[in-house]
Amino acid sequence: MKKVLIYNEFYHERQNDNQASKVYPDGIHIALKQALCDEFSVETVTLETVNEITEEKLQNTDVLLWWGHMKHQEVPDEVAVLVQQAVLEGMGLVVLHSGHHSKPFKLLMGTNCNLTWRENGDRELLWVCKPSHPIAKDLGRFVVIDNEETYGEPFSIPEPQELVFIGSFEGGEVIRSGCCYKRENGRIFYFQPGHETYPVYYNPEIIKIIKNAINWAAPDYRVKMGCPHVKKPLED
Ligand code: ZN
Repeated sequence: MKKVLIYNEFYHERQNDNQASKVYPDGIHIALKQALCDEFSVETVTLETVNEITEEKLQNTDVLLWWGHMKHQEVPDEVAVLVQQAVLEGMGLVVLHSGHHSKPFKLLMGTNCNLTWRENGDRELLWVCKPSHPIAKDLGRFVVIDNEETYGEPFSIPEPQELVFIGSFEGGEVIRSGCCYKRENGRIFYFQPGHETYPVYYNPEIIKIIKNAINWAAPDYRVKMGCPHVKKPLED
């Protein structure tokens, strides 16, 4: 069974005046764990326990899921570097929704990852633009999300190596919603849906995509690349 670790900052869901506390009373990480644990071995960490993300823990993780929003700056830089290094070795990383501004994602992208946003509960159509891709397995032409926070271009990420989804919103905006990257040995998938006040992670098609993404991102080759100094040429 592939080993999945879910990081969720778990802040909005604990504010009683926030709709997130009603949609995800136990936290986004628990909702995701419940949806994924039939196929994967799943553990969770939150901002409070972020120091449990150690080198050893990551070595024992096939794919890390990352949901954060308001508290990105409270994640220690050292943890972000550990995640970056684990990805370079081969660990998979799936960055969800407002995780676009998380320290590990920005470190791995090398850009500021800004985008345009608006919160009106627009309907989103998540268009499959690469039906042959493993992350789009068993989907139709598009997925309907009844209500979502609107994210729009320009999205200042490096050109995705593969673009699997484009989201379009009632108000007219579009965003590159499903972006694949390879960094050294590791695979990264950015997936836009998942605002905390809408029940997006209860949508079976969204869960199907996240499962596909975990299977795609899981390492098939994992090794720390060295910098060996060889003293002699291969042939004299
Ligand atoms: Zn959001």
